[in-house]
Amino acid sequence: MKTKVCTLCQKIATTMYRVQVAKGKVWIFVCTDCCNKVKNEPNYRYGGTWKGESH
Ligand SMILES: [Zn+2]
Repeated sequence: MKTKVCTLCQKIATTMYRVQVAKGKVWIFVCTDCCNKVKNEPNYRYGGTWKGESH
């Protein structure tokens, strides 16, 4: 299992969401909780789901 660290809360998780929360081209990886929070941001963009599970 691979993990990533959430950019916003520093939680380690195996499923991350690639999102933009500010204007520009900066993509960050956030956990499920933070993804649900930033969904309401006016500049929110969703760029895909990252899964650390090996297949
Ligand atoms: Zn988070």
